[in-house]
Amino acid sequence: MFKIDSYDFTGKRAIIRVDFNVPLDAEGNVTDDTRIRAAIPTIKKVLEKGGSVILMSHLGRPKKNNDMKFSLEQIVPAIEKRLGVKVQFAGDCMGEKAAEMAAALKPGEVMLLENLRFYAEEEGKPRGLAEDATDEEKKAAKKALKEGPQKEFVKKLASYADCYINDAFGTAHRAHSSTALIADYFPNDKMFGYVMENELKAIDGVMENPQRPFCAIIGGSKVSTKITIIEKLMEKVDSIIIGGGMTYTFAAAQGGKVGNSICEPDMFPVALEILEKAKQKGIKLVMSPDALIADDFAQTANTDYAPANAIPDGWEGVDIGEEGKKLFREHILGCKTILWNGPVGVFEIDKFATGSRAVAEAIAEATQKGAYSLIGGGDSVACINKFGLADKVSYVSTGGGALLEYMEGKELPGVAAIRK
Ligand code: AMP
Repeated sequence: MFKIDSYDFTGKRAIIRVDFNVPLDAEGNVTDDTRIRAAIPTIKKVLEKGGSVILMSHLGRPKKNNDMKFSLEQIVPAIEKRLGVKVQFAGDCMGEKAAEMAAALKPGEVMLLENLRFYAEEEGKPRGLAEDATDEEKKAAKKALKEGPQKEFVKKLASYADCYINDAFGTAHRAHSSTALIADYFPNDKMFGYVMENELKAIDGVMENPQRPFCAIIGGSKVSTKITIIEKLMEKVDSIIIGGGMTYTFAAAQGGKVGNSICEPDMFPVALEILEKAKQKGIKLVMSPDALIADDFAQTANTDYAPANAIPDGWEGVDIGEEGKKLFREHILGCKTILWNGPVGVFEIDKFATGSRAVAEAIAEATQKGAYSLIGGGDSVACINKFGLADKVSYVSTGGGALLEYMEGKELPGVAAIRK
């Protein structure tokens, strides 16, 4: 396997899968260029070493070709601003023009292909099926797409370049044309970019060789979406702080009253099993004894505090309470490795965000005292950014689903395609 640091890019065209799926405002301006900034070191490396760059990405979820509100042309100025190099736009990711532009690229030049998902071939998901299509018909359409047009699509993308770099961790859990299949065309010329290298190093470090005590803070809304990661983490951690909407499923499963709080009764057996397993394994489960409760899911709601297992009817738990903040903070400060996935309250509403802020601040403080902290999963990243603490933690992952699947021990197609 090649490393970007040791590969000789002299005179070579590198096709780089980046994650430029960035948020845009109504006028098509990039409102957060974190993902663009993240890809710059990889692009610069190729250029500095005498190569040229073909960038490819998806943007949003277009359902057809030429749906221009998903055009990557809109982000060209944002890339140029960060890269300081002119970016040629191909107008398509297939077709003669893209091929000609790629062939004409000179060392030091950069071009960007149009949104890969303008084509069903990128994801390998057929489009335009009749609404009443049977499962058989859907399967046949998928097979036909995979064996015909998708193969041609991958071959064409690969034909533009001499080497392939995957730097899109956020889509590494997808076996798409640009994230995995294309790697087969570059058996000796494929590698990870720096985003990928850093992500894998950070996560491997935490999962394989953590300094102890190792604590995972798992928040978010539902037990059902976090159960696999909680089970996996129980093999690795010394303690788990459980927060967010999940708290109330745990409370209700043990006979508590949770009012209108988010609650999943069908997860009661699972919640009880987690409690039992933690006890057997000697893993400390930390939950907030009190909750901030609200009579509405809005900034204008009336609020109060209640024990997390005695929430009055008509009220719902929307954040941890003051005792919870203190307890979580003290626990976090006692840890040497901290993994945070999911807010401990409805952080999008300021009035319900103080618990998540307290967690973020405690993680920053622990990090300053020498702990290693990894923040991952879309909402916790949004959270740490909202509180302006992203540069006070050890590592902020760019992956949501990819991060969770990797930590769960699943093989990510985008990672496997490079390593195999
Ligand atoms: P997840 O994607 O599972 O990490 O969930 C993140 C979402 O959980 C955020 O949008 C939060 O607003 C939400 N959340 C956190 N705590 C609660 C709560 N107590 N009640 C309802 N939603 C919550």
